[in-house]
Amino acid sequence: MKRIGLIGGMSWESSALYYRLINELVRERLGGLHSANCVMGSVDFADIERMQVAGEWDEAGRVLAAEARALEAADVDVIVLCTNTMHKVAGHIEDAISVPFLHLVDVTADAIRHARLSKVALLGTRFTMEESFYRDRMSAHGVETIVPDATGRTTIDRVIYEELVRGVVREESRDEYRRVIAQLVAAGAGGVILGCTEIELLIGDDDASVPVFASTSLHVRAAVEFALA
Ligand code: GLU
Repeated sequence: MKRIGLIGGMSWESSALYYRLINELVRERLGGLHSANCVMGSVDFADIERMQVAGEWDEAGRVLAAEARALEAADVDVIVLCTNTMHKVAGHIEDAISVPFLHLVDVTADAIRHARLSKVALLGTRFTMEESFYRDRMSAHGVETIVPDATGRTTIDRVIYEELVRGVVREESRDEYRRVIAQLVAAGAGGVILGCTEIELLIGDDDASVPVFASTSLHVRAAVEFALA
């Protein structure tokens, strides 16, 4: 089994989900007492969030590149960045390492194309929904993404930073997410990307009338497939 390197802490609530899902999947595949061979570097999310708000993306990229180099020094065979938003600086990481980097957008796009969909809703932080790094890469895979209106984006982003990354899961927020998803389906989305690694703590397949593409689960599956190949 190859060793998976995880860059976590953004937030640790979703990193914990990565750790659990990776181990569950390895057990499911190999049986017995098997568990994943993995190493996680975990940053202080307060530092990263401050850099996001200040627009200090290069500095954040340098921090994450240093984490990636430390994982490479720990002999990992692949690097997994456990956040959608920070894929904005994926290039910093890829430039710093020689092992493969499992890009979350590529993995998610593969699943969408496999489902033969070409237009899907994208839910995530305001950076993920409003900036071009995520949507352009999806579009390079032939996947068009639509995002909520300004009010919807504010709701989706607020619930992530004020609730989910703090481990708070509220039924009222689930209802708000469902409403936003329904609007996007009415606007033509054939599926919905849970493009933030904490959204799976709140939303599942039953919360949408269309297929749900859960980025954490898809990323985990790709990492385990790589490790066991
Ligand atoms: N985990 C989140 C994501 O997947 C948000 C936290 C962050 O800003 O990195 O985008």
